[in-house]
Amino acid sequence: MPSKNILLVLAHSEPRSLNGALKDLAITTLTAAGHTVTVSDLYAMKWKAVADAGDFTDEPAGDRFYYARSSARGYKGGTQTADIVAEQKKLIAADAVILQFPLWWFSMPAIMKGWIDRVFAYGLAYGIGYEGGRYGTRYGEGSFVGKRALIVTTTGGQATHFTDRGVNGGIEDLLFPLTHGTLFYTGLDVLPVHAINGSNRLTDEQYAIESARYRERLTALFTDAPIPFRKQNGGDYDEALRLKPGVEGTATGLSIHRGD
Ligand SMILES: Cc1cc2nc3c(=O)[nH]c(=O)nc-3n(C[C@H](O)[C@H](O)[C@H](O)COP(=O)(O)OP(=O)(O)OC[C@H]3O[C@@H](n4cnc5c(N)ncnc54)[C@H](O)[C@@H]3O)c2cc1C
Repeated sequence: MPSKNILLVLAHSEPRSLNGALKDLAITTLTAAGHTVTVSDLYAMKWKAVADAGDFTDEPAGDRFYYARSSARGYKGGTQTADIVAEQKKLIAADAVILQFPLWWFSMPAIMKGWIDRVFAYGLAYGIGYEGGRYGTRYGEGSFVGKRALIVTTTGGQATHFTDRGVNGGIEDLLFPLTHGTLFYTGLDVLPVHAINGSNRLTDEQYAIESARYRERLTALFTDAPIPFRKQNGGDYDEALRLKPGVEGTATGLSIHRGD
């Protein structure tokens, strides 16, 4: 396997946490496989989570602020703040991105949402390819085609709570806004979510099992099959971008957007 660049984005405030240990495990495993790992440790970086006018150095005084418009101008004109530009460079250089976080209220912690809001700029991640009657270059197309993404999350809830009939709902459904609406939207191949459940009280034995399971996923980062989301412009959706009748077979809910 040729050497690859991996960007690991971590949202946890405590280096001695389970998430901190998993981050170290990922660095060790991927580096031993000959890859280069760049870490964006968002709390350690004191990452600014809120997207606002302060993200641009040329925001005209007195204008009504509209984030997408300023993002487009800032990305194209080079007037985004340095922290955003640095993360975009890391993202563009990456062959794979790992987003690692504890599940908070069925989602990612705000600091990671803020990383996406600010780094996934207009003109880079969205707002591209509207020409020729196509509704955008997105959902399987886009700037990040050719890159892979893996979400690694630790949960307080037990594995059974996140199954198809589990009280929390399935983990792939809960994280669909991230896997489908963000990562696949911008062109990445998204691997099945790696969840470490019941993580509040892991025994040493369980930690050893979870470490081995995570190492396997890391080793297969460039070979595992991605979630087979349907491409927006792949023929399954009609002009109004509704799935054509019957295409889903027996699938229901959000899984109608998968092609398997
Ligand atoms: C605001 C908030 C919202 C939340 N929302 C949800 C939710 O919606 N759904 C849900 O399921 N959960 C939820 N949780 C729970 C949360 O997901 C877990 O507490 C978190 O994932 C645990 O990860 P951690 O890294 O903080 O663990 P830590 O507290 O650091 O560690 C957990 C356990 O792992 C073991 N451990 C840690 N490090 C090691 C090591 N190096 N070696 C061996 N064992 C180790 C220890 O036994 C430790 O007690 C929420 C928590 C908060 C604070």
